[in-house]
Amino acid sequence: MSLKAKYVCSECGRGFDISPKLMLCPDCSKDRRPDRPLRGILDVVYEGAFDGELVDPIQMLPVEPEFFPNIPVGGTPLWRPERLCGRTGFENLLIKDDSLNPTGSLKDRASFLVAAFARKFGISEITVASTGNAGSSMAGVGAAANLSITVFVPKDAPTAKLVQALQYGARVVRVDGNYDMAYDLSMEYSARTGSLSRNTAFNPMTIEGKKTAAIEIFIDLGHSPDVVFVPVGDGVILAGIFKGFADLLSMGFIEKMPLVFAVFADGSDAICRAMESGDFADPIRSSTIADSICVDVPRNGYRALKYLREFGGQCVRVLDDEILAAQHELAMLAGVFAEPAAAASYAGFLKSKSNIDQSAETVILITGNGLKDIDSAKRGIDFSENAISSIEEIL
Ligand SMILES: *Cc1c(COP(=O)(O)O)cnc(C)c1O
Repeated sequence: MSLKAKYVCSECGRGFDISPKLMLCPDCSKDRRPDRPLRGILDVVYEGAFDGELVDPIQMLPVEPEFFPNIPVGGTPLWRPERLCGRTGFENLLIKDDSLNPTGSLKDRASFLVAAFARKFGISEITVASTGNAGSSMAGVGAAANLSITVFVPKDAPTAKLVQALQYGARVVRVDGNYDMAYDLSMEYSARTGSLSRNTAFNPMTIEGKKTAAIEIFIDLGHSPDVVFVPVGDGVILAGIFKGFADLLSMGFIEKMPLVFAVFADGSDAICRAMESGDFADPIRSSTIADSICVDVPRNGYRALKYLREFGGQCVRVLDDEILAAQHELAMLAGVFAEPAAAASYAGFLKSKSNIDQSAETVILITGNGLKDIDSAKRGIDFSENAISSIEEIL
């Protein structure tokens, strides 16, 4: 079965037909300031009741199954890390390991839906501005989907993350400026060439695609968990998790929303500050070891804020040292090697767990693989000469 869907503006509530020509509400996005999050983000809203059995999250997406590329995105394991349960005293701690997606991050969920959307509308080129995971993800999923991918990267984009995109055969355009400049130039390019923009938050399918992580958690458990920890940069994964559970709630699959903890690096917390003060203020230059959650102006800020308020989400900040310690602990006690942004999820849990009932079913969302950023990972361990043993020492 396929549900009928439309776009509804998350601010004014105006409805629109779904089309690749429309990305933001034309009314609400009119007065957008570049130093503030995007306005007029469009939600995908479904009409009619879901009938039949829910076995695959694709059933809850607005593109028919035949358009999705032949690459195994999603279906990542939800499992109980026994030693971490012992260490934390949380008997029902679970890891949802999205680093096991084809390109190594949760971004594949958005790329997967955007690729299907492009194929449905006969579009052959996709453009994206990215500092790392979104670009390499779109490149990999695009390769499987036989789409041309152009990735706009800022001047100082880490080499390691570009290698992946180039391996997948994407065209990489280096912009002489920061991520914001790459973002603006990519928008200009897609407007001129008619290629589809996968820019995060701007393309409504990025939020909708990421919701499948929540749907899978529900399919595996048969109910909604009590608590979910999500690392936050632009706030699209966060909105996707809320959207997934909210859709399940409105379609009658679950009876309650989980309590969602949004985890921020201490040096990149614009959404957190907006929660405290009531609105977004002038940007502060962000800085954290967790590059995937390092943003000055979170693109999905207003939408994320609205979800946090509507469902009583909590914000938690973690320091870089706490992220590095959490990364090492996850690796040592669970065998999960997460990149810093993903380890922030677990760091946020360690910081908040005294306020959570120990019996709560608690999901830690791991969003990206540790091999994507070896330089940061080296900082959390002793990597000096004497940390590595010689044969003489051990025999
Ligand atoms: C993109 C990303 C995030 C943050 O997602 P947002 O949608 O930008 O909030 C977290 N972890 C990893 C590994 C990512 O690639």
